[in-house]
Amino acid sequence: MIQIYNTLTKRKEEFLAPGSKIRMFVCGPTVYDYIHIGNARTFVVFDVIAKYLRYRGYGVNYIQNITDIDDRIIKRAQETGQNWKELSEKFEKIFLDNMKSLKVDSVDKYPRATDHIPEIIKQVRTLIEKGNAYLIEDDGYYFDLKTFPEYGKLSGRTSEMADDAVSRIDENSKKRDRGDFCLWKFSKEGEPSWPADFGAGRPGWHIEDTAITEKYFGPQYEIHGGGQDLIFPHHEAEIAQQESASGLKPFVKYWLHVGFLVNKGGKMSKSLGNFLTIEKALEKYSPEALRFYFLSAHYRSLLDYTEENLKQAEVAITRIAEFKNRLRFYDQNSKPINIDDVKEIEKMHDEIFEAMNDDFNTPKAIGVLFDLIHKINNLIDKNIDVSQLTPPIAALGLFDSVFGVVGGEVKIAKEVQKLIDEREVARKEGDFARADELREQIKNLGYEVEDTIYGPLVKKLHNAIVTN
Ligand SMILES: [Zn+2]
Repeated sequence: MIQIYNTLTKRKEEFLAPGSKIRMFVCGPTVYDYIHIGNARTFVVFDVIAKYLRYRGYGVNYIQNITDIDDRIIKRAQETGQNWKELSEKFEKIFLDNMKSLKVDSVDKYPRATDHIPEIIKQVRTLIEKGNAYLIEDDGYYFDLKTFPEYGKLSGRTSEMADDAVSRIDENSKKRDRGDFCLWKFSKEGEPSWPADFGAGRPGWHIEDTAITEKYFGPQYEIHGGGQDLIFPHHEAEIAQQESASGLKPFVKYWLHVGFLVNKGGKMSKSLGNFLTIEKALEKYSPEALRFYFLSAHYRSLLDYTEENLKQAEVAITRIAEFKNRLRFYDQNSKPINIDDVKEIEKMHDEIFEAMNDDFNTPKAIGVLFDLIHKINNLIDKNIDVSQLTPPIAALGLFDSVFGVVGGEVKIAKEVQKLIDEREVARKEGDFARADELREQIKNLGYEVEDTIYGPLVKKLHNAIVTN
């Protein structure tokens, strides 16, 4: 059985039975700039979650919205003298290309906010008619938090604490409560605008999500995900909107949130300027290494950004690719494997899947995979036939189809590989003078060796990493 930590109940809960239909929604990007690797982490995590659930037999319908109308888009377009639509189309394309490069291919639909204006208008109208929204003249319609006493149930915060998270269009001194948020903003001269019977304008920050999910999923569904920074106020606002509009609770059964990616102790963000875009990261690292890096911490934990961590990931995926090749090991003099070893390997296989069933504990699954690799390599070194074992193939299948961290065959010239192996032996024996000598020889052949916790990282000297 799968256990999932639910932000709403603040505990791990038994998930639905395998075979169930799962409607899953994850907040997508606001397409006004390149996304950074912290955002990419969130999208890779939910890609793995969707793929794992499908792997276990769930029918997952996965939707992610594209926010293509927003304050930041309008502002950026004005600053750069572009048309807001051209700007958002450009960054939407870049985002989708980035996702493809990262092997994020589990999303069934990427609906745009601007393609769902009628649904947004309909939901705003419902909230006005039900008395949950009020008008501020010459500004727009706001959600009245006094009509929704449960506000704060996801985050444990109140509307009084909302001031640090309001967006520009939510600022107005005439609001009844400081946490009240904008549902529909009347348009000013030169701003994008859509006609509505209650006044031409554009959607507020939160309304597109619930309008889109109501259209494709109905008023209630199973999983809503996003980055941790969206819990408040964005996801609280979504709950307030949808539960008020439909009168049905809960809007979403399981809420999942991904932790921050931190750089030098601070959250990676555009406003802090300490970010690495996924475009740049993909120039430097393979998609498998980036995915491995994202999955090397539990999704709810902080993940540290360091060059060292990414280099380790690059080596780790090389080890996994080598393992894939070694698994088919059989030579005529091979000895049969004994039953204790088979049992140990089966146990490791089960532990990998148990880790995934326990709130998608990818670092634990990775740890056990490396124990398994170690074990199998030892057997092969002892000339034992491992070619008939199925548990390692199943484990590798998971790391390939769900984790997406199994790349192509590692191609390093044989003579270089021989020197690398010799150098590893020298290092293990503490003969560092010999190891340095070998490093020089390797360098003369055009390769560079660096040592990481997963073993040597071998790169071509012009900095291209030698995988594939
Ligand atoms: Zn959202």
